[in-house]
Amino acid sequence: MKRKMAWFSVSILLVAVLLMVSCGPAKMTAPTPTPTPTPVPTPTAPTPVPPLPTPTPPPASVPTPVPTPTPTPTPVPTPTASEIIYYPVPERPWTKIPSVTISARADDPRIQLAREAVDFWNQQLAELGTPFRLGTVTHTTELVPIDYLTAKSSATLEGQTGPLFPESVRRMPGDLIIALSDGDFVSFSTAPGPTARVMVGIRDSQTPPLSLPNVARNVIAHELGHAIGLGHNNDPTKLMCGRPAPCRPDAWQSSVERYFPITEVEKTFLLKLYSPTWQPSR
Ligand SMILES: [Zn+2]
Repeated sequence: MKRKMAWFSVSILLVAVLLMVSCGPAKMTAPTPTPTPTPVPTPTAPTPVPPLPTPTPPPASVPTPVPTPTPTPTPVPTPTASEIIYYPVPERPWTKIPSVTISARADDPRIQLAREAVDFWNQQLAELGTPFRLGTVTHTTELVPIDYLTAKSSATLEGQTGPLFPESVRRMPGDLIIALSDGDFVSFSTAPGPTARVMVGIRDSQTPPLSLPNVARNVIAHELGHAIGLGHNNDPTKLMCGRPAPCRPDAWQSSVERYFPITEVEKTFLLKLYSPTWQPSR
């Protein structure tokens, strides 16, 4: 029995030795060293974010040149309404549509100018909105005596009434007579009145200034302006410029045939004389 136990112990021992040999001594004696864990790097303080780069200012641009304002053309100075002097006249409107008689030689080229001057004023009146007009135009070869026109011109310039109509004129038809004369006097117009006939005297037009281009046309229109009630102003660029202003008929000389204008003040005055509700009294 003892031998069996001893054998058994020896066997166990042998097995143990064999096992030890088969496994190798290294495994038994030198345990694989636990790998040192790679130290987790302690997170350091966050790297400070580098400051944002200061934006580089854009390169200095070439300054945009301020556009030079286009110089406003200096307006040609013209007298304003307040700068024009008006020489007052009494308010003496026609109370009827005056019929017009042109007294002139049959071949007088101014007859057409007189007709056109009537048309000019009727156009002005129409534009103003008044029903007042210069009326029917007729022509007579019966001439107004030069001595009468000369005396009447002088009297009118002095603010006087002057001589009465000569008999030849009394027989003439028409409320407004336009005498196209060869006399040497200052062209004129008597003032309109409720009962008076109006005489317009136009001087010789074969010599200056009326022989100058465009002048006789405006002289006739100017006198018709008086014949319907307008006075003078002192603006030589206007139709009604006249005494005591120094402008004279040669101011209307022009290479282009045209009427010089009337002013806004004169239009207002005409509307005062002849309102939109104006009616002939008889
Ligand atoms: Zn005048």
